[in-house]
Amino acid sequence: MTDTITIKKPFDAHVHLRRGAMLRAVTPYTATRFDKAIVMPNTDPPIDTLDAAIEYKNEILAALQHSNVLQNVRTLFEPLMTMYLTKGLTPQEIERAAIGAEGTKIYAVKSYPYGATTNSQWGYRDILEAKDVLKEMERVGMPLLLHGEVHLNEHGEEEDPYDGERLFIADVLPRLLETYPKLKVSLEHMSSAQAVDFIEKNGKEGRLVATVTPTHLMYDRRQAFSGGYRTLIHMKPLVKTSDDRERVRDIATKGLPFVFAGTDSAPHPESKKFSSCCVFGVFNSPVALELYTQIFDELGALDKLESFVSVNGPRFYGVEPSAETITLVKKDWQTTEPVVTDEGVKVWPICNTVHGLGNETIHWQIKG
Ligand SMILES: [Zn+2]
Repeated sequence: MTDTITIKKPFDAHVHLRRGAMLRAVTPYTATRFDKAIVMPNTDPPIDTLDAAIEYKNEILAALQHSNVLQNVRTLFEPLMTMYLTKGLTPQEIERAAIGAEGTKIYAVKSYPYGATTNSQWGYRDILEAKDVLKEMERVGMPLLLHGEVHLNEHGEEEDPYDGERLFIADVLPRLLETYPKLKVSLEHMSSAQAVDFIEKNGKEGRLVATVTPTHLMYDRRQAFSGGYRTLIHMKPLVKTSDDRERVRDIATKGLPFVFAGTDSAPHPESKKFSSCCVFGVFNSPVALELYTQIFDELGALDKLESFVSVNGPRFYGVEPSAETITLVKKDWQTTEPVVTDEGVKVWPICNTVHGLGNETIHWQIKG
């Protein structure tokens, strides 16, 4: 039985760090566990220019410099910045961003379907409308990151949220790939059997990849509805059936070079997360690496963990995997406390014992 594993320091291909006090509170949890992370641009206002991305990156680096959590911890963490595919994003800005004008390169552009999730009000209703920008991204090799859900039908009515990803895979993604045969595309937070089927068939390094969250590996609808709806794991795409979860677990642990970790850690204040009109997004950076390890262990796939969390992601983005390592040990622990911002706001990670869904004991921990 393996009870210790050392891997190259991981790469988080999908994280939300927010801004201000929330950013200062949550960023150290990513920076201590991950070598680099692809930082999502759906802040308010959205990051859709190179200058805005540079300012945002500076805020992240400043927060790490002044962090109490990081006292005595050396971190070389590098945030890799993205831009939001708003109607204001121009082909000229893509070109500037791709070459790293002003010393900062942009690593990807993220598409949110209008209205589907947190701060998605600036997204296109139909991504294929963004012709000139997509063409330029294809030309310069800028990856497109997809929140792959259809939220509204052609009459502007909401689709069943459990069907959003299936509809996107059946209709939008094939058209996008056909129209832009060289565009680099990542289907983010794959959550359904239909997405797994599509990626298994069409996934290819450098062309079409997919990321997987710990939340979609851990949970299905049975937990989401255990004793009332459990807003702790409310996110888009919604967690789905046990069959969907099994399929996502299966593809994640196969060792495919075009499937890798993106935590989608997305913190919200306690007051919003547990209100009746609760927000989309699951905060998981304090436990994500441990949960990935636990699931790979359960499925007898620890030998595939390093490529999934530390190697495939950097390859897609054209950066080197980390030269540092991190060691995890098989030892039970629990998370009992929220992260608290310097303004006194509480943020609860998944798998906490207070708002938990049962089975909150985590079986792996970082050797510190
Ligand atoms: Zn996200």
